[in-house]
Amino acid sequence: MTTPLLTYLRSTVQTDQISVSDFMKTALSHPEFGYYSTRQAIGKSGDFITAPEVSQLFGEMLAGLLLHIWQLYNKPDSCLFEAGPGRGTLLADIDRTYSRLAPDLAKSDWYLLEASPALQDQQTATLPQRTVRHISTLSDLPKQPLFGIANEFFDALGVDQAIYKNGAWHHRMIDIATDELSFSIGPKLTLEQLKTFQAPGTAKPDDIIETSPVGLHLMQSLSTHIAYHGGALIICDYGKTDNHGDTLQAVKDHKAIPVLSAPGESDLTHWVDFDALSTVAKNAGARLIGPVPQGQCLRQLGIEARASQLRQPDNPAADRALIAALDRLLSPAQMGQAFKIALLVPQGDGTPPGFLDATAPMRTGEMS
Ligand code: SAH
Repeated sequence: MTTPLLTYLRSTVQTDQISVSDFMKTALSHPEFGYYSTRQAIGKSGDFITAPEVSQLFGEMLAGLLLHIWQLYNKPDSCLFEAGPGRGTLLADIDRTYSRLAPDLAKSDWYLLEASPALQDQQTATLPQRTVRHISTLSDLPKQPLFGIANEFFDALGVDQAIYKNGAWHHRMIDIATDELSFSIGPKLTLEQLKTFQAPGTAKPDDIIETSPVGLHLMQSLSTHIAYHGGALIICDYGKTDNHGDTLQAVKDHKAIPVLSAPGESDLTHWVDFDALSTVAKNAGARLIGPVPQGQCLRQLGIEARASQLRQPDNPAADRALIAALDRLLSPAQMGQAFKIALLVPQGDGTPPGFLDATAPMRTGEMS
């Protein structure tokens, strides 16, 4: 299918093949043709629903966790942060929670990392009473403790793939010259690239491994910030703790579709490699706690007690909707197990609520 995004790509890219990460970046985030700039992607009338769109309970629990850590630090002057805030629903839930429980923290400025100009406007409109600054690089963050969240952000960043063919790892590319987009085999990985991909020495033909250069770069900046200035960042995403397998997926109208079938008109994500994020955090002097399954984390944070407070026995429809939303967040068959939550904090060894059974994942043989 030829889409405006594809026409743009063909007119600007001089080669027939582009990397998976370049394709994802343009398809999702190009300010004019990208998916997030041209469509109302998130929500019931969009293509997919995220946890904050399921229920206010999600934002309230995570705001409570950040607030708890802020209090443990003796309530320092801080900046608030969100990466990829989408429609701003989570921003509103967090702001409401801080306003009620920690008005001093609520008064802090918000720093938002958001590629889509249309979503930037929506996010600013969500918090008319606050100072909201959109930044294009993390070096624009003030040198203060940061309390923030990245929900379904890392999975939307470009991922690169390598495929094992003829006894060697090759770049997996996307052929944009043909009518139907298809995957193709690129050059062999250099020694440096084998290292970046953490490529295993032996593999089976057609095995695929992944790495997200932008994701790791942003993680490094956030980890360095938190290691030096303090704070905490919650990272929530569909993810796992290795880099094996092809995890790319496309979604349109709440259904999975073939990954390359609607470039610029479908959401594209990959499963986040939390192990790789954890390694970057540790190398930067910070610590990533978890990931743990969302159901376990939200239960430990007290979501069921909060849901009981919100029940509406006099309004059966609203009450049923609340129970359904709780089930959607907690049930292993829905978002409870596969969706993961991790917490980036400075080095240390305490374990905050939400992560009581968590162990920091680490690749074997790496660092002491
Ligand atoms: N956190 C929101 C939205 C998740 S969708 C929610 O939970 O509902 C992913 C978000 O990340 C969108 O806001 C998208 O525009 C933004 N995004 C994707 N790639 C980005 C990039 N490279 N830089 C900044 N924002 C990006």
